[in-house]
Amino acid sequence: MIENGKVYLVGAGPGDPDLLTVKALRLIESAAVVLHDDLVPPAILALTNPLAEIVNVGKRCGAKGPSQSDINSRMIESALAGNSVMRLKGGDPGVFGRLAEEIDALESAGIPWEIVPGITAGLAAAAALGASLTDRRKSARVVIITNHRAAGSDAATQRDWKALAREDATLVIYMPGHDFEALHARLLAAGLPAEIPAALVSRAASPDQSVTCSTLDDLAHLPRVPAPSILLVGWALDAAVRRALAAQSAAVLAEADLLLSR
Ligand code: SAH
Repeated sequence: MIENGKVYLVGAGPGDPDLLTVKALRLIESAAVVLHDDLVPPAILALTNPLAEIVNVGKRCGAKGPSQSDINSRMIESALAGNSVMRLKGGDPGVFGRLAEEIDALESAGIPWEIVPGITAGLAAAAALGASLTDRRKSARVVIITNHRAAGSDAATQRDWKALAREDATLVIYMPGHDFEALHARLLAAGLPAEIPAALVSRAASPDQSVTCSTLDDLAHLPRVPAPSILLVGWALDAAVRRALAAQSAAVLAEADLLLSR
């Protein structure tokens, strides 16, 4: 079913190969050229065709990698050479994945393309926490947002946090960074209450995923966690955050008991 001379813009999901879509898996197994991000784990790359050309075109923060125009040219050249090309991105390709720029480049070059959606990290983070992102009693909307202020990204720098950070919304903050003090101040200034639940999810859907629960007030004191991580904030998380905190205290008490009984 895969076509030559075409580019498939595919979401690899949050990391667990079991969370690939069936369509993504079929394409991964048959694409001749796979251009992938850093976020795509070895367990998923292991599913590619042994004869495929696999290229990491990731541009991890700080590290030097190919520019966006290098990636565009590479996709176009491989498709013009008659290959089936897969542009494989972590999560969903259309969420903070520079998909629009790649579509523009493919359109300009007259290359056929198709989007295959994937499970975005925010959804995997909510699953890791054990929470629903919406709750008809508390949260009627989900706001997908990034705290990363890329150069030239006006949308990110001039964002109106007051309009986005509302008590009846669940905030899903991609690329939250490490400066939680600044984020804490920004969200409080936007009008969110100090006691609103927050959860920092690191490496969601990976074997070493971790969930750190807190409230907005404690956000400034959260420990650093391994990247990639995502921050969820909102009342819809309340019950899940309480459950996680109770389980954490129970574990601490059990450990203290163990130490005392020695
Ligand atoms: N297209 C991707 C997002 C790319 S932006 C998607 O739909 O998920 C990269 C950011 O996504 C990371 O900085 C982090 O905030 C988030 N992210 C990606 N994978 C993640 C994971 N497994 N766990 C937690 N956050 C993740």
